[in-house]
Amino acid sequence: MVTEKLYYQDQYLGRFTARVLKSETDKASKHFVVLDQTAFYPTGGGQPHDIGTLNGLEVYNVEEIDGEIRHYISEPIKVKSECVGKINWERRMDHMQQHAGQHILSAAFEEEFGYETVSFHMGKELCTIDLSIESLTEQEANEAEKVANIIIIENRPIETRWVKKDDLNKYKLRKEVAVNDNIRLVIIPDFDYNGCGGTHPKATGQVGSIEILHWEKQKNFIRVFFVCGRRVRTQLHEKHQVIQNLTVLLSSPQEELEKEAKRVLDQSKALEKEIADLKQQLNTYEAESLITKAEAKHSYKLIKELYVDRAFAELQSLAKNITSRSDEIIVLLINETGDTLQFVCARGKNISISMNQVLKEVLPIINGKGGGNDLIAQGGGEKVITADDLMKLLVDVISLKLE
Ligand SMILES: [Zn+2]
Repeated sequence: MVTEKLYYQDQYLGRFTARVLKSETDKASKHFVVLDQTAFYPTGGGQPHDIGTLNGLEVYNVEEIDGEIRHYISEPIKVKSECVGKINWERRMDHMQQHAGQHILSAAFEEEFGYETVSFHMGKELCTIDLSIESLTEQEANEAEKVANIIIIENRPIETRWVKKDDLNKYKLRKEVAVNDNIRLVIIPDFDYNGCGGTHPKATGQVGSIEILHWEKQKNFIRVFFVCGRRVRTQLHEKHQVIQNLTVLLSSPQEELEKEAKRVLDQSKALEKEIADLKQQLNTYEAESLITKAEAKHSYKLIKELYVDRAFAELQSLAKNITSRSDEIIVLLINETGDTLQFVCARGKNISISMNQVLKEVLPIINGKGGGNDLIAQGGGEKVITADDLMKLLVDVISLKLE
């Protein structure tokens, strides 16, 4: 069941009539029809399928399967009926621009630098080509983009030619052609010769322009992101919008944005450092104040404090700060947050007791977890007893060990 491929006779055909040769459902119970002729391009050669309508019914997918072009539609159309097909032209023209643009950009990289394109992907918003190289410089990308845009401005013809395998050696092809018969060459004279089954405009000028956006290193190649035609304006519009918003946010004109953003970031870093320094000072002040009101026991001094919703890291740092200032001190700090209790216990270096040991004896009572060493240990668990009772327990364990 061979369908006449109208998109190869006239790539600008947006409306056509055809007869339904076959109307079936596939394995996934989706309706499709096969026509005697079609202008719907099926997915292939890196180019996504067309969409549009058949007799007003939405054609949402077009695939070439087992030699037949299947038009997937929401409802069946009877065999032998005449139908009118309409292609979503905006989408097709976009595909033609991206596809032809890719030929031109790949050829530019190869002509200028000998960089070979190994694959092409046309995404919804961006296109990519993969170049079989290890690295790409800004200068090379700029140069390839410049050459590609010159080819576009020169508005060179884009020709297609059906050739036999034996005739291929007459053309300077970029790549070996994958098929043996029905070979279709897409030719930009004196610039590019390629085997390709996709749709392209008649001349390079219709690509509009090519813009390389960025590139990234992959395992064995460099992936170049680019856009052509209408997508260049879309990108420009989006980027312009971002810049506009930034000029308002930073109260700075476009040419000063980078400098201003850097200044704000530097300022924020300086402030962060200042806050950290101030916190440290505050911590020291708090440590000294607690030391002065430490309770004197016969062989050591004891600091015990209860807190609510205090950042635990702060308490750990406070405990360290205190024990670094006094060798004969024991610090017990408990924090209560919601249904949890956290505590840190630490000692000065002249007291012989393992704080980790103290922690281990108390943790099971609050179903807690934690750890540490002889000098400092911390943990947390459930508030099954009050913070006050937990403190009493800690004090008792320590008294038993030291008195
Ligand atoms: Zn092509």
